[in-house]
Amino acid sequence: MMLVLLMGLWSTTGVAQVDPNLQKYVGEFITDSQGKVTEHDFNGFKVIFESTGWGYGKKNPLGECSWDKNEVHIDPNYWNQASEVSRWTTMYHELGHCICMRDHVEEDWFLKKLHLWGVRTARKETVLLYDGCAKSIMFPEDFGDWCVNVHKEYYVHELFEDCKVRHETH
Ligand SMILES: [Zn+2]
Repeated sequence: MMLVLLMGLWSTTGVAQVDPNLQKYVGEFITDSQGKVTEHDFNGFKVIFESTGWGYGKKNPLGECSWDKNEVHIDPNYWNQASEVSRWTTMYHELGHCICMRDHVEEDWFLKKLHLWGVRTARKETVLLYDGCAKSIMFPEDFGDWCVNVHKEYYVHELFEDCKVRHETH
């Protein structure tokens, strides 16, 4: 109800439509990009709460970037129980997709197969840091608050170093 009301207040074209509870992260994202990303890059984008079907024991994502709709969705059920660090990571991950055009940094099919076969020690330097933390917040799985606390500065640098802002085509 709250969300519907707020959306009603938003203008429909040209401007960003960011849920008030998510604005803080969008602002930080712009600041952390050190000029690479501006408010303009959010024009026509929605950053909103919408269910992805997330729930305990399910594989649904915490959030998602919908390319064709120019929308970032954050699952409200996930959000309500998430730590501050996890929220930050999820927002930066999804904005990494939608705003910076970043793909996942993940293991290749062969390593995934090995893991499937139980060879869990097979890891790749391109994906993981020396301490087992992901090498990028574009890693597709939740890798825990500890890693973000230790490597936050590095993750921000890594994210924006490879950020190719999509120029407005609409
Ligand atoms: Zn992703």
